Amino acid sequence: MSETQLPDRLDVVAVAPHPDDLEILCGGTLAKLVKQGYKVGILDLTSGEPTPRGSLETRKQEAEEARRILGVPVRINVELPNRVLMDGPENRYKLATVFRTYRPGIVIAAAGRTPAASPDHHQGHLIAEAARFYSQLTKWDDRFAGTAPYRVPHLVYAPYPFDAEHRTWHSTFVVDISETIEQKMEAIRAYRSQFDDERFARVRHMVGSANGYHGARCGFRYGELFALPHPVGAPDLVALVHGSKPTAPPDVPVGQGHLPMG
Ligand SMILES: [Zn+2]
Repeated sequence: MSETQLPDRLDVVAVAPHPDDLEILCGGTLAKLVKQGYKVGILDLTSGEPTPRGSLETRKQEAEEARRILGVPVRINVELPNRVLMDGPENRYKLATVFRTYRPGIVIAAAGRTPAASPDHHQGHLIAEAARFYSQLTKWDDRFAGTAPYRVPHLVYAPYPFDAEHRTWHSTFVVDISETIEQKMEAIRAYRSQFDDERFARVRHMVGSANGYHGARCGFRYGELFALPHPVGAPDLVALVHGSKPTAPPDVPVGQGHLPMG
């Protein structure tokens, strides 16, 4: 594949094993990035099937509906095997080929180990990190469908909420998703084969609670937590600590601007 045949570069691509993982972990942020004008892509490592009530065709339609709801222009299935997803050279090559094709500025990788859910989640985390490294390697173009080496500048983690570890990330940050939380919930709702009404109510409660908690810690109604594999670099301390809030002192009466145990 020559450089001229490659599709447009994407600003951000998010990677996770199953269609519905990214909607749950960072759907609000993906929808927000689209609204902000960034070119966003979703990479599902597997089809997510088989599942008890799903099929390849329904899962594909649900993923497409969720994509449309979030407004994300590109959704690619990397076609690695579900349930037996394992980190290994061939799977790394396949994902790295997608990175080299779309040349994203940022890769968001679903991260962590889920003790009571699919082991694919942890393997997907490992594959994403390795593929990001492999993407830049020279003299291996034949392993990446003839694409040119590409260095992915930034890796961001989207942590699973029930990680088996109490993980100490080098740094974390929260994106305000107050304006896209309903879009996120609707995108999760698209997976009707996975979430019937009763299960969706539980997922909505769990996801809404987690996003409410993370948001509240940073002064937002709803937020999604992210982590970095390194400390946050800050050219301006004041701008960093203020985040998206005004840099002028807030006009909040003394004693009313904090939560009871914030
Ligand atoms: Zn999953």
